[in-house]
Amino acid sequence: MKKLRLILGDQLNSEHSWFSKTDENVIYCLFEMRQETDYVTHHIQKVVGFFAAMRNLAEELKAANHTVIYFDINDTKNTQSLVENLALLIEENNIEKFEYLAPDEYRLDAQLSQFSKSLKIKSEVYSTEHFYTERTDLKTFFKGKKQFLMENFYRQMRKKHQILMIDQQPEGGKWNFDASNRKKWKGDALIPQEISFDNNVSAIISDIDKAGVKTIGNINATYFEYPISRKQSLVQLDYFCEHLLVHFGDYQDAMHTDKIYLFHSRISFAMNTKMISPKEVVDMVLETYRKQEDDIDISQVEGFIRQILGWREYMRGMYWMLMPDYKKENFLGNKNKLPDFFWTGETKMNCVKNAVHNSLNNGYAHHIQRLMITGNFALLAQVHPDEIDAWYLGIYVDAIEWVQLPNTRGMSQFADGGKIATKPYVSSGSYISKMSNYCDACVYKKAKKFEDDACPFNTLYWNFLDEKQAQLASNFRMKMMYSVLNKMSSEDRSKIKEKANHIIENLDEY
Ligand code: FAD
Ligand code: SF4
Repeated sequence: MKKLRLILGDQLNSEHSWFSKTDENVIYCLFEMRQETDYVTHHIQKVVGFFAAMRNLAEELKAANHTVIYFDINDTKNTQSLVENLALLIEENNIEKFEYLAPDEYRLDAQLSQFSKSLKIKSEVYSTEHFYTERTDLKTFFKGKKQFLMENFYRQMRKKHQILMIDQQPEGGKWNFDASNRKKWKGDALIPQEISFDNNVSAIISDIDKAGVKTIGNINATYFEYPISRKQSLVQLDYFCEHLLVHFGDYQDAMHTDKIYLFHSRISFAMNTKMISPKEVVDMVLETYRKQEDDIDISQVEGFIRQILGWREYMRGMYWMLMPDYKKENFLGNKNKLPDFFWTGETKMNCVKNAVHNSLNNGYAHHIQRLMITGNFALLAQVHPDEIDAWYLGIYVDAIEWVQLPNTRGMSQFADGGKIATKPYVSSGSYISKMSNYCDACVYKKAKKFEDDACPFNTLYWNFLDEKQAQLASNFRMKMMYSVLNKMSSEDRSKIKEKANHIIENLDEY
């Protein structure tokens, strides 16, 4: 039976069982499409990274004697639409069965399932063989529960997969070493030279330009730093284990003007395109730990494994449990526009400037920059979650909706009213000052609340609490903050209100 098998741009798992044997009746297809480049404005490094990794997989499959049809973005036969390309190939090649790997994104899943139903030939969906969990696992796990705590899911995952467990108890005597993972980086622990790959992507950039795809951000055409093959992804992982794991947990939440990556792995692009699997990552981290137990503390290892086995799987499960309604949630009723400086980095706030510049230059910001700088600011400025989603979905090389949306709308913006985070991740300038050196060189004063040179995070923070009392004051975890607000003099409160209104109405002046 003649089969057409679709591989989407984030399904580049060369270890998939599909490829274990060749079959002359099977055609694999991959498409670079405007459908995918244009649904938001993406970072140039994101588009380049995906196309480069897709082209590499196609070449690898061809070299292993698989039949592959690849439409690049300017291919004359490319209709730029997923279903039209598929229909064309089915017709042209007398295909008798269409097969695809289950998309992780709701949009593509709906599109392909509708397409399959419309076909006169048979179709079948396969697993991507990537995640630890099935799409529906969290729905089952949290059935009947009012709270969907990541911690509960994570512990069950540790037990189920026997990871960092001894006799059914957590290794090291604790499930969670978060408390010891909050150090500010002051230059004490040496950060090794970051690993990067000197990939020449000039030809892909020309193709993207020729096609007229609109992108944001910067790129070095002859030195593209992200891994674009499985081999490079494994090198990146190996580098993390050998050089960065040792301090990962300690400085997980730290931020610094001179150090973009600190001890972060930068493995998200390789994983989200599925060039490597979360199990491979966890296994290699555990193997490194077992070899170097005298040098690497369990808190570093647990801190990292929690991100992969816990947060990453949890976010995917929550996405599938809560979509499609999740994409419309706006619990706090925020409606402001995202300031232009999110696209340019032109702001006087040193912390935001650094986080946005990192994002524009590298398609990357680490978790705390995403959560406590840009996300925090956007929430305090009460920006509409749709605008924030579009920015996060475009700007990061690792942004795919199943992981971006629950992180942004849920964890960062509390737009789901607390399904993912138990309280909003908002802070004044004092948290930023505690975790970074940003405030040292900022024109604003981190200790001031409403004066001309007051830190805008401070003004907006107290104003946010004031304005969102109806939605937040009853939240147990917000009680302390509200008791501080309620002790503030009415004079100070009205000065804060006045200043906050000015900031919100003139965001791009700050
Ligand atoms: P490390 O800090 O080295 O962590 C290792 C890995 O753990 C990451 O590669 C990632 O796969 C996983 N991980 C860590 N935290 C999370 C999390 N909260 N959710 C899911 N996986 C996690 N991650 C994405 O992959 N794509 C996104 O589009 C994305 N958008 C985000 C938006 C916001 C507002 C926030 C707060 C976080 C977002 N994250 C996203 C999660 C996290 O910030 C990135 O995974 C991480 O910064 C990637 O860099 P790294 O590989 O160096 O991570
Ligand atoms: Fe950011 Fe405020 Fe610190 Fe400036 S003073 S870097 S705006 S937190």
